[in-house]
Amino acid sequence: MPLLRAVATAVVHLSHVDNPGTFALPYPDSAQSVLDSMVLTCLLLKAEPPRSVPQLVDWCTVRTVDNWVFPIPPGVAPPGSHLVDPTTRQPTQLCYEWADSDDTGLRRTGKENMDAVAMICREENCPDVYHAFRELLIKNPVLTRRELSTLASRGTGLELLQQQIQAVYLPAPAHHMNSRIGTFTACGRCRFLLHRTLEGALVCERDACRSRGPVRHGREYGAGDSGGVFLLIRPLRQWVASPGHAEMHLAKSLESAGATVQLWPSYGSYSLHIALPDGRSWAVEIKDWASGALLGRTAALPPQDPPYDRCVWAVPRGRVRAHHSYRDEFLRHSTGAARSGPDLVSSDDLLRAVRTIVAGAGAPFAPEGLF
Ligand SMILES: [Zn+2]
Repeated sequence: MPLLRAVATAVVHLSHVDNPGTFALPYPDSAQSVLDSMVLTCLLLKAEPPRSVPQLVDWCTVRTVDNWVFPIPPGVAPPGSHLVDPTTRQPTQLCYEWADSDDTGLRRTGKENMDAVAMICREENCPDVYHAFRELLIKNPVLTRRELSTLASRGTGLELLQQQIQAVYLPAPAHHMNSRIGTFTACGRCRFLLHRTLEGALVCERDACRSRGPVRHGREYGAGDSGGVFLLIRPLRQWVASPGHAEMHLAKSLESAGATVQLWPSYGSYSLHIALPDGRSWAVEIKDWASGALLGRTAALPPQDPPYDRCVWAVPRGRVRAHHSYRDEFLRHSTGAARSGPDLVSSDDLLRAVRTIVAGAGAPFAPEGLF
């Protein structure tokens, strides 16, 4: 697992090289170190090793994670998954999960961004501004320079976070652009910029959008429109904006079902606080990870702020349907105190359980029975 994590981390770092065409020897230290480890491992196993970093990236593109030369524990990657997307040659969602699985990588960077925003809003006693920031990331992952500069005039109070906003929206990477006509196209579902495949087609980076059918084209941006196109940084797209869609949708559904819901209470202590008519309250975290095992390794109870009676982590129904062992893997890889920590349910089952309680059917909430 450490070697797989090191390869994923190196792939993510390599994907941030601005212009791979100018990439030259020597390789970055992290990439060379991983290549050395892979070569040594292959030689020990009498397997053909990758002979260069480009060959290692090819390996991650062609071989599924469950078909590498060295064995990996069962369940830590969905069957048939890759670290590099064969169609776009970009790191997959799973690759980012692996790269961040020791909590020292991009996810921590994203958490630091969010913590800084929460601290400022808390000090200024501005929960509405914190909400406006979360909604900005979810609803506007792409902004032109002019839109960025006029955010303050929209009456949202976001001028308080001008510096933090500029730090998380960076010029859109060239690999999203149609270089022939100089345009970027947003996803019609999540509004992230679509990636271009090697054949020139467009695909969304989110597993959730891909699973919902053919790509849907959204807004188109000229590369020079309104001062240029800016894209939310990847950690905040993957760990904040992407689950944010599900958080907002589930909050509305739970309120319609009769629960009282707070989104991102206490400056983002957790995703949702649900107050039930019988006096109980739940803390809910919305997660959308490709690997239930890696998600389990991050399992921890959020702070009791605001207080709750029990904590549940909810994942999209598609995750548990596609991989029947998803919840088992989550629980198996939860460690230490987390064993008595959050349980895992699908967001549909959570909604169904709340409806049952609100309707007064009297059925106790039993996640084990929901699957
Ligand atoms: Zn999308």
